[in-house]
Amino acid sequence: MILVTGGAGFIGANFVRLWLEQRDEPVLVLDKLTYSGNAANLQPYLEEGRVELVRGDIGDAALLERLLAEHRPRAILNFAAESHVDRSIHGPAVFVETNIDGTFRLLQAATAYWSGLPAGDRAAFRFLHVSTDEVFGSLGERDAPFCETTPYAPNSPYAASKAASDHLVRAWHHTYGLPVLTGNCSNNYGPYQFPEKLIPLMIDRALDGQPLPVYGDGRQIRDWLYVEDHCRALMAVLERGRPGEVYAIGGACEKTNLEAVDTLCATLDACRPRADGVSYRQQIAFVADRPGHDRRYAIDAGKMRRELGWEPRETFASGIERTVAWYLANPEWVAAVKSGAYRDWIDMHYGAA
Ligand code: NAD
Repeated sequence: MILVTGGAGFIGANFVRLWLEQRDEPVLVLDKLTYSGNAANLQPYLEEGRVELVRGDIGDAALLERLLAEHRPRAILNFAAESHVDRSIHGPAVFVETNIDGTFRLLQAATAYWSGLPAGDRAAFRFLHVSTDEVFGSLGERDAPFCETTPYAPNSPYAASKAASDHLVRAWHHTYGLPVLTGNCSNNYGPYQFPEKLIPLMIDRALDGQPLPVYGDGRQIRDWLYVEDHCRALMAVLERGRPGEVYAIGGACEKTNLEAVDTLCATLDACRPRADGVSYRQQIAFVADRPGHDRRYAIDAGKMRRELGWEPRETFASGIERTVAWYLANPEWVAAVKSGAYRDWIDMHYGAA
């Protein structure tokens, strides 16, 4: 049994799904089911009983103690977080609560549990912390990509809270010996992503005939990675990574935001042409830039390649094709998320928050 926090969110749910396709080991998901957590992301595995979903907060020490004692996981993977930069600018408090304080409580509970395990289980136990490349700040156009030794320089409240959580994780290894692993990954996209993030937002608005808002001049560069490739990387880190080590994970796929939206429009033009035959590109509209917007992120994933033999399988074009195909095939998922209907389902099964 593995414990996955935040497993009803975008990357966590993709990870759980991939895990259950490839491994015969059940998963306990602890998720607060905030606006971005969606139990429907874990179907049909919830019904089959291969996943158990507990609605709760990683900051709830008593709950953590009880769950760990009852379920005795051999690993904890921490995906739970407030994850949206724009939201962190307007309401940073919850980012500090979940990403910093929550990670602290989780580390405390994990350390107490791990310390009490029999020697063999102790040696095999892992705590995998899922983090972001945004902790490294912003790169200039000619700078070398981020890697595991890049100094931290977070610029947004989101990035600062994740940076703090990474430091806590590191310290719990050095001070208490907890066998931790950290992955700092670049921008993900793919199925089950909440439609506030760039790629699903653009797909949704394009199909709705609305303007496609691009911040500033659209020349901010992101290193895009298809979510399944990230999840495969995390499986490799969990199973073959060295405790105490950090792994930079990225797609070697730098695109300006404008290029990303352009590829998306071209893919939509091919898969679901507009009725008037005009390209979706016509809907692109430039809007005022976000405050403190980082100019460029890029990752050197050489350590992942050399030490763990990991490489992304998808190119940006193929990943976008798969993503568009998924959103076109699952309009009811998008509609339920947008209307808040999935909340009714959550409240029916798990009680109102
Ligand atoms: P998400 O917002 O889709 O999912 C976060 C999940 O955490 C949700 O299910 C939410 O309900 C849950 N959650 C929030 N607060 C919680 C709490 N206090 N206790 C328990 N559960 C809680 O985010 P995501 O994009 O899937 O990101 C997952 C992790 O990966 C985050 O740690 C994020 O920093 C990191 N990351 C994301 C990206 C990306 O591009 N999306 C890239 C690199 C790293």
